Amino acid sequence: MTLLPLPAFSDNYIWMLHDTHHAIVVDPGDAAPVLQALGSMGLSLQAILVTHHHSDHVGGVDALREATGAAVYGPAAETMPQPVTRLAGGSVVSALGLRFVVLDVPGHTAGHIAYYCAHADGGPLLFCGDTLFSGGCGRIFEGTPAQMQVSLDALAALPGDTRVCCAHEYTLSNLKFARAVEPDNAALQEYTAHCESLRQAGQPTLPSSIATERAINPFLRTRQATVAQAALGADASVNPQEPASVLAALRQWKNEYR
Ligand code: ZN
Ligand code: FE
Repeated sequence: MTLLPLPAFSDNYIWMLHDTHHAIVVDPGDAAPVLQALGSMGLSLQAILVTHHHSDHVGGVDALREATGAAVYGPAAETMPQPVTRLAGGSVVSALGLRFVVLDVPGHTAGHIAYYCAHADGGPLLFCGDTLFSGGCGRIFEGTPAQMQVSLDALAALPGDTRVCCAHEYTLSNLKFARAVEPDNAALQEYTAHCESLRQAGQPTLPSSIATERAINPFLRTRQATVAQAALGADASVNPQEPASVLAALRQWKNEYR
């Protein structure tokens, strides 16, 4: 099984998984890079998995369905290109001989879902859309900080070797903010150097891993005293004992951070 991030637009990745015959893709905002990859590798598209309704994630769905006949799966609670098989937490999608369990991860959008495969060769796989990024998380457009905290807690509880397949290459700018939150986090310094060298070589920083994110991502570290204190420094109304309150302040600080 081969996992590929297909670059799209300025900073999206459309994740493709294939077994040299069949493929699945996640969040095809654009059909062109997917059709190009299918053609050049002689793959047939079996399924399209969608995490949420934003156009940079669904824009290529209709064209791909028409061109390939692939089945489309998406969140139960969001507007989706039709026809679609609707999924919610606990739903299972079988594709490429793998079993993907659906997790409800509201916050970025109200009905955002993620796909988790516990038994893929090379380790567990997580397709998390715009909920969790390496070093950061999605903007809270439709949900609440409390919902986002619960969603991120669920992802952080996955096995440490889970490969985290995020939908955007935002890592370096997220890490810059993370260093402002935790200037003394040694793992964060090391990971930053690693990601900078990947980007200099034109490589994606993804997939990341859950173990890495637990060590370096401030949005998964809202229970750490260092992170809570930094959030309190940014917003005096923060309750440092309350992870969702810390998360809300971090998210607001990040929105304004340059
Ligand atoms: Zn989005
Ligand atoms: Fe997006």
